[in-house]
Amino acid sequence: MTVHAPVAAKGRTLIVGSTGFIGRFVAEASLASGRPTFLLVRPGPASPSKALTIASLEDRGAIVISGSIGDDDRDSLEKVFKEYEIEVVISAVGGGCILDQLILVDAIKGAGTVKRFLPSEFGHDIDRAHPVEPGLTMYGQKRQVRRAIEAAGIPYTYICCNSIAAWPYHDNTHPADVLPPLDCFHIYGDGSVRGSDIGKFTIKCIDDGRTMNKSVHFQPQSNLLNMNELASLWENKIGRTLPRVTITEDHLLAAAKEMIIPESIVASLTHDIFIKGCQVNYSLDRDADTEVTSLYPDASFRSIDECFDDFLARVTGAPAVVVDKPNGDATMVKPNAETKAFA
Ligand code: NDP
Repeated sequence: MTVHAPVAAKGRTLIVGSTGFIGRFVAEASLASGRPTFLLVRPGPASPSKALTIASLEDRGAIVISGSIGDDDRDSLEKVFKEYEIEVVISAVGGGCILDQLILVDAIKGAGTVKRFLPSEFGHDIDRAHPVEPGLTMYGQKRQVRRAIEAAGIPYTYICCNSIAAWPYHDNTHPADVLPPLDCFHIYGDGSVRGSDIGKFTIKCIDDGRTMNKSVHFQPQSNLLNMNELASLWENKIGRTLPRVTITEDHLLAAAKEMIIPESIVASLTHDIFIKGCQVNYSLDRDADTEVTSLYPDASFRSIDECFDDFLARVTGAPAVVVDKPNGDATMVKPNAETKAFA
């Protein structure tokens, strides 16, 4: 592990996974807040897009530390935390690396400098949601990390930001690449928090005593929409109606059962959101719960309407294909259910 630069300031925040989808938003928000921001970046050749992301964060003042959170990295990590007096660690590693965070937890405990740890969550409250496999295995891993943090006595915050601002999907497209459709809607069973908002509110939480050892839920009521409402909003933006193709519960369960990773994970989570209603079927009635719009009533959330304006700008000029009949094994029906989710 190579340390590139010294630093001498308070509030030092280390981000793991800053080249990823969520991690980049968090790193940008950390830099915008003026915190000394360190990025743990895996060594080795970087893809052009990863290199661009790192360069852009460095231009804004981020300090890159070459390293990883794999098996062999525990002692190096502890050394970095001590040497740089890292006070906050935010992990945004991807779904395939969740258990690597157990090494991170051990190193944080050993260093003793870290006042707050945010593990890679950024989704549902994984102690409450119970998706079918293979999503359940990933949730089991995230739960294992939670229990390790709690057992180690490390102060933590769990960010439960629900969905992000994109069109709900259940294939292998990374959410970073999902735009609303121009051909037909896939309505799951019966019906996205913005990435930049995830970064902004995550950074607000890390110095806030009210979020210590809490799950912070992102539930802006203005962005609670079912798929039919999302579809109508998008139709208003593009000025025409699109066919609706129902993806049934059986279809989602069959896709989950195929155990093709990561498609099947996404199918199982989509089932949990739109069939079982995992984002809305509980109350925030535990001491460990807090809700972000109540914590920060004066901070604005981007509405899904504004996000769709951005999406419209991105698709303008793209050829729109309107289909009369749905393809594949889905059936075109009039959707009737109203399962809501936080868009
Ligand atoms: P990505 O796959 O986009 O990025 C993962 C990042 O972690 C990359 O920067 C990667 O680095 C880094 N990384 C992975 N392994 C290691 C390691 N061993 N050491 C150091 N760095 C490592 O992740 P996402 O942004 O998609 O996911 C982050 C979290 O957000 C996950 O918990 C995921 O479940 C959640 N999520 C939630 C969504 C929602 O809708 N609510 C949507 C998407 C994700 P490198 O560049 O070297 O590969």
